[in-house]
Amino acid sequence: MSTRHEEPSPGAAPLISARGLTKSYGRAEALRGASLDLRAGEVLAVTGASGSGKSTLLHCLSGIVRPDAGTVMYDGEELGGLSEDRLSALRRDDFGVVFQFGHLIPELTALDNVALPLLLAGTRRDQANERAGEWLERFGVRGQAALRPGGMSGGQSQRVALARALVTGPRAVFADEPTGALDALAGEQVMTALVHTARESGTAVLLITHDAQVAAYADREVGIRDGVVHSGPAEALAQEAARHEG
Ligand code: ADP
Ligand code: MG
Repeated sequence: MSTRHEEPSPGAAPLISARGLTKSYGRAEALRGASLDLRAGEVLAVTGASGSGKSTLLHCLSGIVRPDAGTVMYDGEELGGLSEDRLSALRRDDFGVVFQFGHLIPELTALDNVALPLLLAGTRRDQANERAGEWLERFGVRGQAALRPGGMSGGQSQRVALARALVTGPRAVFADEPTGALDALAGEQVMTALVHTARESGTAVLLITHDAQVAAYADREVGIRDGVVHSGPAEALAQEAARHEG
């Protein structure tokens, strides 16, 4: 067995537990021993400077990228030990991902983009469309249902991407700067909808953000610096580093 240090109560076991993740792209060491726990139903903010490894961490935790070393445990299974088929099924059924740069399908309307994960999971077309419409409504973009991504603003696309990530009722949602293209008011609306959904359905949310006001919606915040996760906000880390250097 691995040497884990969680609370002894089984109820407190994290949904996702990453230990010692490393990942390099050529000479760039995106992760250098990152460890993190995401508990069931919690909203966890990850903050850090540009290039600190936030997106890479999200990709490793959600099974999109395999780390060079380290482990990601999800509900008792190690992602690295799963077959591609099992991993795909898990990503489809249990995880929702909002990518930093949207990644909506350009040929599909907003409604069809949101309905797609349901169709892939075997939901009937009419039911999928109805649920997709409800989720667009929740994020304030029902009026854009018939538009393709090219015809929407960045903020509207981000809301559609959030609806798509949540429509299947995942156990964990990974959101990479979901309010990055939104003004303050729209950001508040999106965060309120996201946190409300998480609370209501017990969905765990890993929220990557630059914005302290957005991080304030989370139950807990950790910082990442040079590919290593530290407890507490990134702001505190930067101040501490400045003290050591100064
Ligand atoms: P963040 O999301 O915090 O801005 P990233 O995880 O995107 O950070 O990147 C961390 C480091 O890894 C950066 O130096 C970045 O240039 C590098 N990196 C990330 N993804 C790739 C990639 N696909 N190819 C090459 N370098 C990458
Ligand atoms: Mg990023």
